[in-house]
Amino acid sequence: NKFEQLGLNESLLLAIKDLGFENPSEVQEKAIPILLEQNTDLVALAQTGTGKTAAFGFPLIQKINAENRETQALILSPTRELCLQITNGIKDYSKYIKGLHTVAVYGGASITDQARDIKRGAQIIVATPGRMQDMINRGLVNIKNIDFCILDEADEMLNMGFYEDICSILSDTPKEKNTWLFSATMPAEVARIAKQFMSDPVEITV
Ligand code: AMP
Repeated sequence: NKFEQLGLNESLLLAIKDLGFENPSEVQEKAIPILLEQNTDLVALAQTGTGKTAAFGFPLIQKINAENRETQALILSPTRELCLQITNGIKDYSKYIKGLHTVAVYGGASITDQARDIKRGAQIIVATPGRMQDMINRGLVNIKNIDFCILDEADEMLNMGFYEDICSILSDTPKEKNTWLFSATMPAEVARIAKQFMSDPVEITV
C-alpha cells in the first residue's frame, strides 16, 4: 500500500483501508508529503474528481490537535453540496480519531444550529463564503486562531462572486497560518487572492 509511504499515521491508514482506496491519486501523491513535512502554503492546480478532498484532508487531519477543541481549520468551498461532500469525506477519513469534530456551515439551513455545533467544539469548519461571512458578522464563530485555511475550487468561488467575502474572511484569520489553495484554473482573480493572502506557496499541477 503506497499510502504507507506518504507518511500518514495508523488512524488514517485504517480509515483508508475501510474506504477501499488502494493507491494514492496523482494529486494525493504530490500534495500529501509536502503538506505533512513542511509548514508551507500550497497552490494546487487540480480538476474536480481527482481526489483533492483527501489530498488536503489527510494531512489536515494528521496535523489537527484533536485534544484541543478550538477551531483550528477553515475549509471554504463554493456550494452547499460541495461543502457537505467535503464534510462527509473528512468525517470518514477521521473516523478513528477520537474527539475530532467537523461542522458544515452553509446557507439555507439554521444558522443557530450551525453555531451551536461549532460552540460544542469543532476543530474543522467547512463553509460556503456567504454563510461564513454572516456568522462572523454575528459573532457566532471565531477564526482568529486557526492554523490552516483551505480554499477549495477557488476559481468557482470567485466565479460565483465571492471575492469580497473571501478577502474579508481571510482578513479575519491570523497571518501565521498555512493556506492551501486548490483550483482547476488560475484566472487573474485567483492569482490575486494567492498574491494577497499567501506567502511563497509551493506549486503543484496534476
Ligand atoms: P474528490 O476529487 O476529492 O471529490 O474525489 C473524487 C472521488 O474519488 C471520491 O468519491 C473519493 O472517495 C474517490 N477517491 C479519492 N481518492 C481515492 C483513491 N486514492 N482511490 C480511490 N478512490 C479515491
